Amino acid sequence: MLYESTRGQFRPVLSAEAIKLGLSPDGGLFVPHEIVRINEEQLKELLGLGYQKQAAAILTKYLTDYTKAEIDDCVKLAYNDIKFSSPAIAPVHKLDETLYILELWHGPTCAFKDMALQILPHLLTKAAAKTGDCSTIVILVATSGDTGKAALEGFKDVPGTRIIVFYPEEGVSAVQKLQMITQEGNNVSVVAVQGNFDDAQNGVKDIFGNLGFNQDLLHENYRLSSANSINWGRLAPQIVYYFSAYLDLVAKGNAVLGEKVNFVVPTGNFGNILSAFYAKEMGLPVNKLICAANANKVLTDFIHTGVYNRERHFYKTISPSMDILISSNLERLLYHLTGRDYVKTREWMTSLKDNGNYQIDEPTLARINKIFWSDYAGDNETMETIRSCFDEYGYVTDTHTAVGINVYKKYIAATGDKTKTVVASTASPFKFNTSVARAILGDAEVKDKDEFELLTLLSDASAMEIPAGLKGLEQKPILHQKIASIDNIQEVVQYILQQPVA
Ligand SMILES: *Cc1c(COP(=O)(O)O)cnc(C)c1O
Repeated sequence: MLYESTRGQFRPVLSAEAIKLGLSPDGGLFVPHEIVRINEEQLKELLGLGYQKQAAAILTKYLTDYTKAEIDDCVKLAYNDIKFSSPAIAPVHKLDETLYILELWHGPTCAFKDMALQILPHLLTKAAAKTGDCSTIVILVATSGDTGKAALEGFKDVPGTRIIVFYPEEGVSAVQKLQMITQEGNNVSVVAVQGNFDDAQNGVKDIFGNLGFNQDLLHENYRLSSANSINWGRLAPQIVYYFSAYLDLVAKGNAVLGEKVNFVVPTGNFGNILSAFYAKEMGLPVNKLICAANANKVLTDFIHTGVYNRERHFYKTISPSMDILISSNLERLLYHLTGRDYVKTREWMTSLKDNGNYQIDEPTLARINKIFWSDYAGDNETMETIRSCFDEYGYVTDTHTAVGINVYKKYIAATGDKTKTVVASTASPFKFNTSVARAILGDAEVKDKDEFELLTLLSDASAMEIPAGLKGLEQKPILHQKIASIDNIQEVVQYILQQPVA
């Protein structure tokens, strides 16, 4: 199967090359040339197979230039009981007859990014080998918290790779910082940048854009690469859990094969919900995809009006991983729903860059509304939902998942639709414990307590164990103390790469 650019100005490539390149050189994103179909008979064959085999079956359909043995190898290295705390990998939790939670946070960093970042390093190193590239892959990441840690856990000790993560010195939580500076692994480096997230990100972008520097590194056998969420190697693995969730409902008798279900996805960069779209297009029985946003509701407005306008106030919310005004992966959806019209896609993306907005045509908007429904939840509603969900079901959710549940309730109120619904739960409640503890226990209990005390408090209140990745963090040795100023990020990369791996 070939992959083509959404901007139509680069040659089609095989999946290994799409994964190695990440972004298409014409500025577009790689999409599969055709969407593979899975019929009911094939779906039935996947029933009860377990996550590894289901993942291999789905990925084989897209990564046709990988051998079956290569895919099996990647899947086994990623989705196993050392990396994931649940044997189901992505278990489904039943709240009532119609509402189900797909827990995507049993990986090492307690958020859904692990679902893709655990397998991406293996797909990437195999991609390099398959395309005749024997250089060491160097992953550079600028992070505002979650992605950096998930990438570190994914790439640590993976032969043929090194990873360098830059985080803003004053821009991450105490837990997030400790998670990163205590990171183990012989090929990992973590650097504090004296600036904010934008400074760190701009520094990393400058390095990617510096062709001379990239050439110099190639001479030393290093190829820079990114683990960004626009990489097809991150989207394809996310398709799998929509299938596994559906199959789980059927296997446990909660749905009959062929019955349609809704999925609710708390959305930021539009990556997770785009994978759900691919699953639906492949033939998974899906009724509606419900796009849940927080106060940064650029996507909700877009789905309602067809106007995408990023020129608006940016809110810092209690669901920070959804605080995004440019949802990069939306470009892929537009390309598909315009019938692969790269001229239109390019026009809209250029308008977004130059004017901060674009407006799609009526037929495309109608197609979007047939598939998607959207609303948003503010911080107060999110807190209220965490509380009521705990009272009603005895189930504790994180802030992002609570946005999803809140929007689902709005969906039922607006449509009366009784279709069984699965909410994608994107983080463990322990990961955003300050808000969760406050919602469940009240302000008085939480006041003056640090994040580590709150972990214990939340564990006691919820009768859930503190996840291994967060437990005892304050006792771990600090392994990374490098600091970079805004101007010397490139020198720091150079210096780090001159040191051999431990
Ligand atoms: C990244 C993230 C999201 C948003 O996912 P997208 O693929 O960017 O839409 C939602 N919740 C959590 C906890 C995340 O880490």
